[in-house]
Amino acid sequence: MKIGCHCGASIIDQTDELPHKGHLIPDQAWFSTNDAIDDEVIDPVADGRLGKEEAYHLARRIIGRSARLMWQCRACGRLYVDSRDGQLRCFVPEGEPADREVLRGGQRPAEPGAAPDTAG
Ligand SMILES: [Zn+2]
Repeated sequence: MKIGCHCGASIIDQTDELPHKGHLIPDQAWFSTNDAIDDEVIDPVADGRLGKEEAYHLARRIIGRSARLMWQCRACGRLYVDSRDGQLRCFVPEGEPADREVLRGGQRPAEPGAAPDTAG
């Protein structure tokens, strides 16, 4: 998949674990998603009604049905979000410099003035 950004850059989505792609779960779906994992996956596994492999797939399917995809342009920081009607909606960041890594995984950088991370 390739998105042509309004700035002229291209957003490429051809592999997994992209630092500029995210999966958005609306808050109105958050609790029902967690409840579905409890009811449809964890409880049946605990009761022996569902196998481990089936549970893996079912949990991913439950999360996937609640999530919509989003991408960020690494050149300008615009966000593109799949809307409920299936259209790709563009959001422009305010302020300079724009944070171009809002969808990147991993830990947040340390707050200024915070104690240094001594864990290594
Ligand atoms: Zn752009």
